Amino acid sequence: MMESLLRHMVELTGQRDHNLLDVAVISALQEMVGASQVRMIDIFRVGDEAMMRPRAWIANGAVTTIDDSITDHRSDTPLTHYPALLDCIANQGGRVEEIGPDGETILWVPIWQNDIATACLHITGNATVAPAALHVMDGILSVYRNYQNLLDYSERDSLTGLLNRRTFDEKFSRMATSQNVQDSHLAPTVDRRHPNDVEGQWLAVVDIDHFKRVNDQFGHLYGDEVLILVANLLRSSFRTQDLVFRFGGEEFVILLRSVSLTDASSAFERLRTNIEEHYFPQLGTITVSIGFVSINTSTPVVILGHADQALYYGKSHGRNQVCFYDELVRRGQLHSEVINDHVEFFFDN
Ligand code: GH3
Ligand code: MG
Ligand code: MG
Repeated sequence: MMESLLRHMVELTGQRDHNLLDVAVISALQEMVGASQVRMIDIFRVGDEAMMRPRAWIANGAVTTIDDSITDHRSDTPLTHYPALLDCIANQGGRVEEIGPDGETILWVPIWQNDIATACLHITGNATVAPAALHVMDGILSVYRNYQNLLDYSERDSLTGLLNRRTFDEKFSRMATSQNVQDSHLAPTVDRRHPNDVEGQWLAVVDIDHFKRVNDQFGHLYGDEVLILVANLLRSSFRTQDLVFRFGGEEFVILLRSVSLTDASSAFERLRTNIEEHYFPQLGTITVSIGFVSINTSTPVVILGHADQALYYGKSHGRNQVCFYDELVRRGQLHSEVINDHVEFFFDN
């Protein structure tokens, strides 16, 4: 018992990735609690409604994790379908047990992060979990929570709290790869262009206009304050499932998933106006330029390059605007020339 507990603790704290950490905690609990199945379920909000979606589980010895780069809405369930859990969360509870439809024992354990239940464990078994096993479970979960906080911290930028560049590189390469895998399953006759209402994935690069002037006029420290406020505007302009990164100094990247071109366009436009309309003490107002692109079958480097192209088109055509790469190319305002398979050269009119 002691030995396998230690083994699980080593396994748990050896992870550098949220998915693998989930798997480690699930397999630890499955063994230590003697459960027939343990699942980690995400809890998130869509508008005012709390929703659930399985994130990781082990069934018949096989591990399944749902990477957040793949969104499968079919498994989304409103939290209201599970009144016992809902009640437990409303009371900031630690866990609740109930008997499932097939007579199995279900133990729900919300995972709290700063007073918000961001996930929950769904533990099923043949009998009530014994007090000693619950005690072990609480210990494992404390280590899990601490470690998750540490991982969160390493994924974020210290000034703004947004996801950092390193996290972007990881998430984006995974997202582009999974997109390529999905696309390669399509029949060759399928039209791969995005009609305006087809859901897709989008990447936007946001750069503050004339930010040097802010630093020059008010100093670097004030500039940093402005960056924090802009980061807050970025966060509040998008849904929780959208990913917002601080890419460099005053440059940000947004990844939008499962939205149509029309919705992506209006989301970026809303961000632009939210910033334009915000009053910054002393400074007054600032604007941003945004370039965005569909995440298609290209490599991450090419996709990012295209978003940059669109951004710089906006910069050189009046700033304070949202530019869509594909549209600029279609209108002949931006050209890309494939010189060979690996290198593209760009020029604009
Ligand atoms: P534009 O983008 O409209 O072409 O003009 P810009 O003045 O914003 O030019 P650019 O994006 O090239 O310049 C970025 C400037 O942002 C350079 C530097 O003064 C400032 N900057 C970069 N990182 C930071 C940071 O972390 N804090 C502060 N205060 N300023 C930063
Ligand atoms: Mg810049
Ligand atoms: Mg700038």
